[in-house]
Amino acid sequence: MRKFYVAELSRKSQELFKELAEEQGFNDEEIQDGLDSKIGDLDDIHGLLGFRKCENPQCKEFFNEGFLTEDSDTFCSNECAEKIITDIVEEDYGDYIFFTDWEPEEE
Ligand SMILES: [Zn+2]
Repeated sequence: MRKFYVAELSRKSQELFKELAEEQGFNDEEIQDGLDSKIGDLDDIHGLLGFRKCENPQCKEFFNEGFLTEDSDTFCSNECAEKIITDIVEEDYGDYIFFTDWEPEEE
């Protein structure tokens, strides 16, 4: 089943959003709005808060430690990455696809 709303994501994703939003000074109402919104509606604040969403459409979970490809695709795990980019081989790790973490962008 495809997930559309933040409320359909794992508790871990929701907690991460909450934590990062609090760090950026969002108030309770703004945080609740975020938790009630569509996953895609938060795309604009990924940079501000310092997280990404998994580009496996079956997953879409939020994370601030995960995989980034040379094509700027982001995945929560190597399983998700390999599901979408099916030609990834062992040697691509560290060369085409990297494990990394994200932090809030400086203003
Ligand atoms: Zn994923």
